[in-house]
Amino acid sequence: MRGSIGVHTAHCCKWHGCKYGDDDCPVANGEVEQEYPCEGCDRDLRDEKRVREKLVRIEEIKRWQEAKKN
Ligand SMILES: [Zn+2]
Ligand SMILES: [Zn+2]
Repeated sequence: MRGSIGVHTAHCCKWHGCKYGDDDCPVANGEVEQEYPCEGCDRDLRDEKRVREKLVRIEEIKRWQEAKKN
């Protein structure tokens, strides 16, 4: 789906995968940066205390969100 990369950057996640189950997703493959945290990202951030095994990724999400703000 090369003609609709914008759809992927708006909805897919490099941590949680393509929202549309597209194996060729440019976000999941790391070719482009997603524009927003996905629902899974929001959930992970809220559950931070309960998901210690995911802390590395959560830290990465936080850094990425900070970078977007600046
Ligand atoms: Zn996608
Ligand atoms: Zn996500």
